[in-house]
Amino acid sequence: MITTAVISTIREQVNTWRAKGETIAFVPTMGNLHQGHITLVNEAKKRADHVVVSIFVNPMQFGPKEDLDGYPRTLAQDSEKLANAGTELLFTPTPEIIYPKGLAQQTFIEVPDIGDELCGKSRPGHFRGVATIVAKLFNIVQPDMALFGRKDFQQLMIIKTMVEDLSMPIEVIGIETIREASGLAMSSRNGYLTADEKHNAAALKRAIDSVISAVQHKKSPQHAIELAVQQLKAAGFTPDYFELRNADTLRQATAEDNQLVVIAAAYLGKARLIDNVSFYRHAQ
Ligand code: AMP
Repeated sequence: MITTAVISTIREQVNTWRAKGETIAFVPTMGNLHQGHITLVNEAKKRADHVVVSIFVNPMQFGPKEDLDGYPRTLAQDSEKLANAGTELLFTPTPEIIYPKGLAQQTFIEVPDIGDELCGKSRPGHFRGVATIVAKLFNIVQPDMALFGRKDFQQLMIIKTMVEDLSMPIEVIGIETIREASGLAMSSRNGYLTADEKHNAAALKRAIDSVISAVQHKKSPQHAIELAVQQLKAAGFTPDYFELRNADTLRQATAEDNQLVVIAAAYLGKARLIDNVSFYRHAQ
């Protein structure tokens, strides 16, 4: 595996592959890799001739009071996992390479409407940072396809919208959420949890499942969400949002919508956890 922080090295390697007519899949990450990330790499390998991964803790997507400085950085272990999974090219730029003029002078991309609610509402500027870094990385790597986790459902939708709106010739592929045996969605931020909190964290997926079951049994979604929020509070969470949405548009679900998603964010100890499950109202 070639590891480099240099943009021109990435471009040269990708150009060599492209000249031979070979395809390139790209997996952007912030590192501290777990089985969710490795699944993206495995899926990328199935779909393309070469896999490029980036590790960059993107300062532009963190709010001033968020965990940028404390975000886990574990490059040595990450490199080993990626090499074992068959990654050929690893891009590890510094903030100075990505934002040489500083964040205040940086051109940015903002996806309207869906970027402003749910996580966008609680984390102002977050999705501007995500869209901007992903666009930059796409321009550096120029992959045929890029893989993202459905765990970050709103992020995936924003990236798909950006690619469509800006006519980027890249296929965006969403991959199912990888979970612990308890149901807890794997996340680098789970490392912030104590052993007790990690045990209680599984309540988030249970709460989501309880709302799905209620909706499929034609019960009131509002009442089910109220109960779910109570369950979360009892498990020690401070819920941020907990909503039933249309899985295609991410707008509020109407009684006619069949493709739905229960999407939630909640604080537990030092961690802000997010999760979602999409489903059909009328089981297929
Ligand atoms: P991150 O390093 O948190 O920015 O995540 C990098 C990529 O991995 C994103 O596309 C995430 O959606 C994806 N990802 C993170 N956690 C999981 C998971 N548990 N299952 C599947 N994909 C994930």
